Amino acid sequence: MMKDSVRWGGTPRFRKERCKNPWDGRCGRDDIALYIFYNGERVPICRRCWSRIANRNIEWGEDLEKIKR
Ligand SMILES: [Zn+2]
Repeated sequence: MMKDSVRWGGTPRFRKERCKNPWDGRCGRDDIALYIFYNGERVPICRRCWSRIANRNIEWGEDLEKIKR
């Protein structure tokens, strides 16, 4: 039996979501790599932005929590 619960840690399949990188508001790509929590909201981040975020070591604030895949 398949587990069908919707939780963090997966690629969204049934809902197209667009990147809402808080550091790049104009991105809007839909190849979401993961989600982060930013100011208490779940924010989808695309692969490109994620690699940039990871490389640049942006400071993770108190309200920003990385969600591991
Ligand atoms: Zn992006």
